[in-house]
Amino acid sequence: MSEKTLFTRIVEGEIPSDTVYEDETTYAFLDVNPLAPGHTLVIPKAPYERLSEMPPAEAADVFSVLGEITAAVEAAVDADGTTVALNNGEAAGQEVPHVHWHIIPQFEDDTARPIHALFDGAELSDEERSEIAGRIRDNQ
Ligand code: 5GP
Repeated sequence: MSEKTLFTRIVEGEIPSDTVYEDETTYAFLDVNPLAPGHTLVIPKAPYERLSEMPPAEAADVFSVLGEITAAVEAAVDADGTTVALNNGEAAGQEVPHVHWHIIPQFEDDTARPIHALFDGAELSDEERSEIAGRIRDNQ
């Protein structure tokens, strides 16, 4: 049997966490190395590594509470907005192989950090873009 993920150990209470939400399929807790006060992680209890591995019903379960948890985080730390993001795969910086959404509060008096700031940007012609769109459609 494969080893439990770090986040499964948190769900099972083996590793303590500041839990902020729990239901049958979904769990949320504060990030131990917060990027901002209130930085929260929301996970499916089942240890899927990547988003594409999650059955639609379980993805729907997480999304049915993600907005509500985000609003509660914003209210708790008086944030003006939040970045809600998922590092999907090692190449995207995913360190814990158990799918999780980050809810990171942002504040108007802080420097805004849109996800656009993470990337250099890709110069693509209209033809290249529509060719990529076609390949994405073909791979579904
Ligand atoms: P990733 O880079 O995989 O998207 O994010 C993993 C997150 O998990 C990081 O932000 C990291 O601070 C957080 N983290 C790692 N270990 C622990 C832990 O033991 N407890 C909690 N609450 N968060 C953790």
